Amino acid sequence: MKKTVFSAMRPTGKLHLGHLVGALRNWLELQEKYPCIFAIVDWHALMGEYEQSQEISENVLDMAIDWIACGIDPNKTVLFVQSHVPEHLELHMILACLTPLGWLERNPTYKEQLREITTRDLQTYGFLGYPVLQAADILLYKANTVPIGEDQLPHIELTREIARRFNHVYKTDFFPDCEALLTQTPRLLGVDGRKMSKSYQNAINLAASAEEIKKKTGGMFTDPKRIKLSDPGHPQECNVYSYYNVFAASKARDVYEWCTKAQKGCTECKAILSNTLVDQLAGIREKRAILAQNKARVKEILDAGRKRAQKIAQETMREVREIVFGKG
Ligand code: SF4
Repeated sequence: MKKTVFSAMRPTGKLHLGHLVGALRNWLELQEKYPCIFAIVDWHALMGEYEQSQEISENVLDMAIDWIACGIDPNKTVLFVQSHVPEHLELHMILACLTPLGWLERNPTYKEQLREITTRDLQTYGFLGYPVLQAADILLYKANTVPIGEDQLPHIELTREIARRFNHVYKTDFFPDCEALLTQTPRLLGVDGRKMSKSYQNAINLAASAEEIKKKTGGMFTDPKRIKLSDPGHPQECNVYSYYNVFAASKARDVYEWCTKAQKGCTECKAILSNTLVDQLAGIREKRAILAQNKARVKEILDAGRKRAQKIAQETMREVREIVFGKG
């Protein structure tokens, strides 16, 4: 069967280097090989951020700008906003009717998020149903390939279970089995060595200016055992070195040398990294600035994407209604 790739991101804030290496670089490769559908899933954002909902529309536009600036090509790829295609909610409703409650309550991500996110009340009906909406997002386009990291495997498994349950209940083979496309992405920590996260303010945003990049890299944690310039360092224990490996692999050998032989200090090492990042993000920043000046054009692109997505979604829902309710 021909692969159709579906992937999505929640518009919850500015995109950063973690998004670039964790998803966007992979998407750029995928859009060259397969028909791809990439969605900005604002209803998913609302499920977690319903108290800050005013920020979501701005984040949606920002995310579209970031994606296009990074090279997601709206001519090749269907790029759209989830809430612009109401069929997502209709399919979500139908799937919700047949999804056993226990499947959702047992979902490890749900349990983990309830435990870890203490600043928001996530004990809601909507949040429990997050994986059902996720299944609807994927199945609406009969996407059979979903690029994910290992931690998201339970969600894809749930989508498969929900699709099979639909097929079983209505004695059909309408929904295909979707497969996870496991992607090995480099693990990139925040500049403070903790998990990269908006709430820790430890990420370098794609839209960051040269000054901001310099400031963030200058403050990066390094090998704690290297106290003086003359102390040989341990690059494997240094977050700066891991950034070199991800963003300037050709320089990593030199870094290893100058660090272990104490030939350069950490300040200089970080300054070189900073210049590399400034150079690498320059193209994205320039395209971003142009798009940010022309939001009407970005909205047009999203509307064109909406039309392409909705054409597929409407056809799926016409068939789903027929399967569920009969021809009438
Ligand atoms: Fe890290 Fe570079 Fe300092 Fe070595 S020289 S500890 S790699 S910042």
